[in-house]
Amino acid sequence: MLGSLLGGNGAELITSTTGPQPADFADVRATNLAVVLRFVREHAPCSRADIAASTGLNKATVSSLVADLIDRRLVRETGLTENRVGRPATMLVLDGSPYAAIGVEINVDSVSAVATGLAGERLLTWRRSFSGGDSVNQGVAGVGAIVRRVVNRMTKEERHVLGLAVAVPGLVDVQGNVRIAPNLGWHDADIGGDLAKALRDPGFPIQVDNDANLAALAEQRFGAHSGASDLVYLTGEMGVGAGIILDGRLRRGGLGYSGEIGHVQLDPDGPECHCGRRGCLEAMAGIGAVLRKDLSPAEIQVEIEEVVRLARAGDPATLATLGSVGGSLGRGVSILANLLNPEVIILGGYYVPLAPWLLPVVQGELADRVIAAEAGGCQVVASTLGHDAAALGGAARVLDSIDSGRLPGGISRIP
Ligand SMILES: [Zn+2]
Repeated sequence: MLGSLLGGNGAELITSTTGPQPADFADVRATNLAVVLRFVREHAPCSRADIAASTGLNKATVSSLVADLIDRRLVRETGLTENRVGRPATMLVLDGSPYAAIGVEINVDSVSAVATGLAGERLLTWRRSFSGGDSVNQGVAGVGAIVRRVVNRMTKEERHVLGLAVAVPGLVDVQGNVRIAPNLGWHDADIGGDLAKALRDPGFPIQVDNDANLAALAEQRFGAHSGASDLVYLTGEMGVGAGIILDGRLRRGGLGYSGEIGHVQLDPDGPECHCGRRGCLEAMAGIGAVLRKDLSPAEIQVEIEEVVRLARAGDPATLATLGSVGGSLGRGVSILANLLNPEVIILGGYYVPLAPWLLPVVQGELADRVIAAEAGGCQVVASTLGHDAAALGGAARVLDSIDSGRLPGGISRIP
């Protein structure tokens, strides 16, 4: 529940039960600006009186904060008035027309880039082939080249880039250092620092995160289950990893290594895993277990289409493989459901085209293995965000930092 402290002059504080506590009035004002901006994002069109009534901030404070957000071109007046009981009100909506958030996803054979506006509208979606597997330097050069082109495009559209977040398939610590990305062959790499150098200190923040974490943020903000406060996203690539959102927040764990469900051992005598152990979920239910061949990433898409064709035609061997993979996946999903009790577990990547065959098996396992009735209310669904969910999540992470008070233009003067 929101409550207000410290009345008057835009220095009134809205507190919530979570989140950092501001240290001084500048922080208080930044926090309140963020509260108002979030309210407009969620409730636009809305009036200043609506904001005051819902946030507990007084009307003078709201007027001052709204004026600041209009100055920063984060909010604008629609010019429309709405007749209600009482006097007509000027309605507010998100502006954000001079801004863009960029997300980039590094895959083994491609880089995806997404740019969105402040309200999450897609401005650009690009995918380029990439050979990041060679070395970190070459990888950074390739990513830097695509980011430079995205930034140039945004600049041409007279948009200021708010930030960039890069998704990497691997262990990324809380500082954003890539500890190990096995499929890229990268380890102990400061991709964010290297990218900043490659882009010659571009003047916007660069963040680096695990691909599953960012895909989970994309689902939370843009997906079919957006707004779910307890959500798990499961990547379905060669690797299987989980991005975990609990109580509305991404949970990275102490050092940033949470969500490695792919290396939970399901069978000590199972197939060998990339990590060198045996019978990991990833070895039994990753895409490698469906295709059972050592394919280049470029070939996987074609092979998956063939699997879908065979499954549709009722090919017994294909259906048996999907049944077995679905069973292993269901055991992994049941561990997540027993441990975390999420509202929804979202299957991404190559699980999406295979979902018609995997989901019924997974749901059966869930019903058998979760101790809470009705699987603890946990649904398992296929992602609707497509293959660039993690890139979109990069943009979502940039927008999240705006929502949490890191507004463009810095913290405004105290009145
Ligand atoms: Zn493993």
